[in-house]
Amino acid sequence: MGRFFSAEHDDIQKGLTTDVYFQRTEAILKAKGLLDVHTRSEVTVADLPDAWPWAVLCGTEEVVRILEGREVDLYALPEGSLFTPRTRRGVKLPVASIDGPYGQYCSLETPALGFICYASGVATMAARCKLAAGSLPVISFGVRRMHPAMAPVIDRSSFIGGCDGVSSLKGAELVGKAASGTMPHSLVIMMGDQREAFKAFGEIIDPTVPRVALTDTFFDEKAEALMAAEAMPGLRSVRLDTPGSRRGNMADIVREVRWELDLRGYTNVGVFVSGGLDEVKIKELAAAGASGFGVGTSISNAPTIDFAMDIVEKAGKPIAKRGKFAGRKYVFKCPDCLEYEVSLRRDDPPKCSCGEEMRWAEVKVIEKGKRLVPEEPAEEIRRRVLRQMGRAAL
Ligand SMILES: [Zn+2]
Repeated sequence: MGRFFSAEHDDIQKGLTTDVYFQRTEAILKAKGLLDVHTRSEVTVADLPDAWPWAVLCGTEEVVRILEGREVDLYALPEGSLFTPRTRRGVKLPVASIDGPYGQYCSLETPALGFICYASGVATMAARCKLAAGSLPVISFGVRRMHPAMAPVIDRSSFIGGCDGVSSLKGAELVGKAASGTMPHSLVIMMGDQREAFKAFGEIIDPTVPRVALTDTFFDEKAEALMAAEAMPGLRSVRLDTPGSRRGNMADIVREVRWELDLRGYTNVGVFVSGGLDEVKIKELAAAGASGFGVGTSISNAPTIDFAMDIVEKAGKPIAKRGKFAGRKYVFKCPDCLEYEVSLRRDDPPKCSCGEEMRWAEVKVIEKGKRLVPEEPAEEIRRRVLRQMGRAAL
């Protein structure tokens, strides 16, 4: 059997997915005896995509894993922190920083950034979709649009950002939940008839799996929704995945199906919508009476967050390239409104604009290669995200 193109975990750990210029840098620094010079590097982002005011930090757990065992200290905001790219004074906010001999992590910059740039983009888009959906569930359906090796990464990041469920088996295992899904059009086609497909699902699939009937395969959504309500005992919801060529006004289709179900007493049957959804459409459909959303490409192909890693201190002295702020910074956060500021001293917490005293927000995760804090379950990180979204005046 041929191998897939994705990198082996070992290759990533050894730095083989890194950009070649780091390998060359290592060779030069080694020859000149500079590999062990102590440095401090920070991870920052100048601006967020699409003028997002805030983002969700995600993927730091994998950064911890790649740095574990290297002679470095790692400080980071907790995974699932909502953050702004800059503090209120306009200083780029370090979301993580590494302290140690440069040779210990030079070749890991590329994979370390890759872990958080993509995952944070996905988590942020999931959070935005969740905000748009209000109290309604959002399920991550986007793994099919990315390389399968990424499925657990996509699902974990979506879940942490606020998705209520994920569709892939490996993704669900990683976040400790049962996978979420309904039925594909192929089942209806293979069964030859919608009613047969609905009945067969009811007969064969474990009763703990919510009954959700896909009601747009052959006929009108309204007609198939009523067929499902009659053919499927315990029907939780119908799913509308109407193709683009038939959509017209999707909110109106939702309203009409909702009306017909209510008219016939199926008020407990929800209308779950999937297919080409994004945060704007979710809002419209929620207002039209949809009961839940399956969101694919807009989450799994979310804009990536362009984090960069830069040296800010060398041999104990502040130094930085043009455009970066040199020196060790301590990151503080307001416990109430989640505003950030940096201070040059750990014992000098800034005051928030709300009057509250800010708290030191970084966690020392690794000391001299040794992990200091245990891995957090995805569910706990997700709760942190939802809590902040409820409070943030960001
Ligand atoms: Zn405040």
